[in-house]
Amino acid sequence: MTVDLDIFKKVDDSQVGKFDHLSNFEIAAIFNRFAAQNLRGNEVVNGGRGNPNWIATTARLAYSRLLEFGVTEAERTYFDPKGMAGDVQKDGIYDRLMQALKGTRRDIFLRDVIGATIDQLKIEDRDAFVYELVDGALGDHYPYPPRCLKYTEQVLQQYLQKNCFKDVQMAKDVDVFPTEGGTAAMVYIFQELHYAHVLYPGDTVVVNSSIFTPYLQIPELSEYNLRIKTVTTKREDNWQMTDEQFEELKDPKVKAFFVVNPTNPTARAFTPERLEKFKEVIKANPDLVIITDDVYGTFSPSYRSIFAVAPHNTILVYSFSKLYGATGQRLGVVCMHHDNVCDRIIQENLMNRRLKELDERRYSIVVPDPHKMKFIDRMVADSRAIGLYHTAGLSSPQQVMMDMFAMSNLKDDGANEYVKLSRQVVADRYHEFWNDLGVKADETAENTRYYTLVDIFDLMKQRHGEDFCKYFKDNYNYLDFTYRLATEFGAVVMDAKAFGAEEGNVRVSLANLQKDDYRKLAQAILDLVDEYYEVYQESKK
Ligand SMILES: *Cc1c(COP(=O)(O)O)cnc(C)c1O
Repeated sequence: MTVDLDIFKKVDDSQVGKFDHLSNFEIAAIFNRFAAQNLRGNEVVNGGRGNPNWIATTARLAYSRLLEFGVTEAERTYFDPKGMAGDVQKDGIYDRLMQALKGTRRDIFLRDVIGATIDQLKIEDRDAFVYELVDGALGDHYPYPPRCLKYTEQVLQQYLQKNCFKDVQMAKDVDVFPTEGGTAAMVYIFQELHYAHVLYPGDTVVVNSSIFTPYLQIPELSEYNLRIKTVTTKREDNWQMTDEQFEELKDPKVKAFFVVNPTNPTARAFTPERLEKFKEVIKANPDLVIITDDVYGTFSPSYRSIFAVAPHNTILVYSFSKLYGATGQRLGVVCMHHDNVCDRIIQENLMNRRLKELDERRYSIVVPDPHKMKFIDRMVADSRAIGLYHTAGLSSPQQVMMDMFAMSNLKDDGANEYVKLSRQVVADRYHEFWNDLGVKADETAENTRYYTLVDIFDLMKQRHGEDFCKYFKDNYNYLDFTYRLATEFGAVVMDAKAFGAEEGNVRVSLANLQKDDYRKLAQAILDLVDEYYEVYQESKK
């Protein structure tokens, strides 16, 4: 959607309610434009963006080295100075790569990660492994198998094992499907739950809220027409689900549970104790499908995926976007256990003659035995309207880039240095911000500190009392605060109501600004609270 900004230029404080119907992403974009012309002439501080302002370097350098080596390899078979080469030969490619690699940073790194991966995966055919990386980086063949390249799948299994399943050993028991980011993964999953008749229109889906806004919108799409119930976590529970909320999931009428873990915007992983509750839930409601988005997993040391405690009922989505500063790469992955509830429901549906016939007609053009097709493979076929199954799958250069990120993570035996660094970067900013606000920061291990929610109403009460806060609520639109923060101070934060949070909460991203900027942001918030307080005092005269 494009927004005509001129409509909003004329808006004054009293008309801020006009923004009510826009998504919070649109509002933040508009407020950012206003911030550029802020009354105080401040440099703009945009704390609304979730995109990280760091990148992982070594994996990218290694990728560039693979690409360069690939061109030299291709020129061995055919070379024309006009800019054409032949294809890459597999025989002896491992030795030729090792010989080509010298002492530069990227060469050393590439040699190290390839060596470590060969050891870890016990790869016997080294040429086949290196050929997959080199030919994949060049991107001169349709990715095959379409769902995932052979060694890429093994690398991703290990990555998910180390970072998401942790101590529950399952690497060999899962299938993965690399996708164009976590967001595409979600689209494919909901589409397939519909096509495979795992979810029907009218079915009840529970969504853990507050949540990334688009995730409230997908299940509501008219073609899915799912009935949405939210379970909203609270600050006083450290944003954890309560026993009563877990009880709601046990109702067999609830067909699916949709969750981001660790959360966005509340930035919390399930505690180990809360996570165990999913075992009870599955026992009571064995057909429940859990869809979990674990993009922020590595940012909390105490995180473990719901997939680790309920593997047969959970579809896991992971994305490389945030940790590796790779949102533009579009790198995500869907992971499912070999033995999973969706495949079981498909088999049960096939007892129904009509559904069996539909199934036959739909998939028999691409596979000889359509009824045996797994949910995850149906997802791949349906992502390309079935007919184009043979050209489905994530581009091979993207798969190889994902390999490089994942292999850099697997290289270290224990916790990865880069992962620790990424946690430190957001934690430093987080502390700067909360110290300057004068509020005690939350130090629990579940806190990712990637985002933080500030309750403006609480802040008002703390600084100037209940009565003042009530005055603010009675006299201003809830968006007034973020609007004036932008127009007067040039500071942008995202209102969190659209995420499903209570009014008065704003989301600050710790991912996108320098440490000093968080000091400025905190000061602007405090100054603005004090300005409202002055007006309040005037009003009492
Ligand atoms: C940023 C973010 C993602 C990443 O999505 P990609 O499509 O992989 O870039 C996924 N889920 C949530 C909740 C996010 O905030």
